[in-house]
Amino acid sequence: MSAAGEKSGAEPESRAVSEVVDLVSTLIRFDTSNTGELETTQGERECAEWVADQLQQAGYTTEYVESGAPGRGNVFARLPGADPSRGALMIHGHLDVVPAEASDWSVHPFSGAVRDGYVWGRGAIDMKDMVGMTLAVARQFKIEGTVPPRDLVFAFLADEENGGRWGSQWLADNRPDLFDGVTEAVGEVGGFSLTVPRRDGSERRLYLVETAEKGLGWMRLRAKARAGHGSFLHEDNAVTILAQAVARLGTHTFPLVLSDSVAEFLAAVSEETGIEFDPGSPDIEGQLAKLGTISRIIGATLRDTANPTMLHAGYKANVIPQTAEAVVDCRVVPGRRAAFEREVDELIGPDVEREWITALDSYETTFDGHLVDAMNDAILAHDPAGRTVPYMLSGGTDAKAFARLGIRCFGFAPLRLPPELDFSALFHGVDERVPVDALEFGTRVMEHFLLHS
Ligand SMILES: [Zn+2]
Repeated sequence: MSAAGEKSGAEPESRAVSEVVDLVSTLIRFDTSNTGELETTQGERECAEWVADQLQQAGYTTEYVESGAPGRGNVFARLPGADPSRGALMIHGHLDVVPAEASDWSVHPFSGAVRDGYVWGRGAIDMKDMVGMTLAVARQFKIEGTVPPRDLVFAFLADEENGGRWGSQWLADNRPDLFDGVTEAVGEVGGFSLTVPRRDGSERRLYLVETAEKGLGWMRLRAKARAGHGSFLHEDNAVTILAQAVARLGTHTFPLVLSDSVAEFLAAVSEETGIEFDPGSPDIEGQLAKLGTISRIIGATLRDTANPTMLHAGYKANVIPQTAEAVVDCRVVPGRRAAFEREVDELIGPDVEREWITALDSYETTFDGHLVDAMNDAILAHDPAGRTVPYMLSGGTDAKAFARLGIRCFGFAPLRLPPELDFSALFHGVDERVPVDALEFGTRVMEHFLLHS
């Protein structure tokens, strides 16, 4: 309780705050690396069983569910609230992590080491931090007999790092009963602080609440033409046709579309910092760069993107193949799906076919209402100089699966971060780590938030 802006040390620390660091450290020690392949992904079952055990020790009845394949473990628990007529709030987190190459790291990525004021390891930020905070608060509520204002559903999930195919997406398709009565949900990636310079020379901590996510689409392009000998005149070459289409798509700048979440974020930042963002300017990305590394995420939410990522054609140097294929990673702003597809069709031309390998819709909700007020109050109670602002995530989370079920989703995993920390670089990065005091702060905020949800 030493940080500025906290209550004085007169109040003893809550049970949840006392145990959160241990919980996060232990969670990291489960190697739950998701390789994207069923055969080599491991550890989710063991981690889920440990989470279930922690919940059961606190008095919960838990349900363990495998999402479509052996070992893909998920755990659910419910805590009844004072007013069962209100819809339930779900707090969800994924247990899997992306793989880590140990030789690149300062500490072993699955050590969960607590050192220099940080908990280190794969998942420290994405997202065993929030899993630990959720688990700590869930345990405390049950042990102390706390009755929250509405039903709470705690969900610990598999396979987020592979788009939730063997996790949230499967559960939404096959076990919608697990989400009965859930009207709202919070998960990653939001609630973290971004320190910006104010006009008067002071600083302001903005807490970015995720209210929207771009759509995700992996698109296969295929050119079919005439096969033939590599030494002949040959105008009808699938490789050339595909390469031209890929180049046009990869260098194309899609139109700028300011969704409500992005517009509200930019307005709030302008108000605090005095930096003007001119959406009409060809250099809007340059203006955003003044915000520092977070501009990598914010900049990607201004327009659709289509990045070619895979190419495949041919089998012999002197054979012109009949087909050539590419894969393009497409990220689409809410409301733009149909317009995006039309624009892509024009760019690739009539000689190239396209199909979606994976297509997950965008979603967007408004930054208002009781739950948003509760997030704001919880942040202000523990950081009176903070300010919550909405923003759009350029990537995807499990929220996409739950939004399909009609659940209103937010990213809210509160962390107060030191201004110099390059937070976005820690996601899937080397030396991923989370400050101990940020975890303790986040646990206090989560406790406050759930008690007023
Ligand atoms: Zn994540």
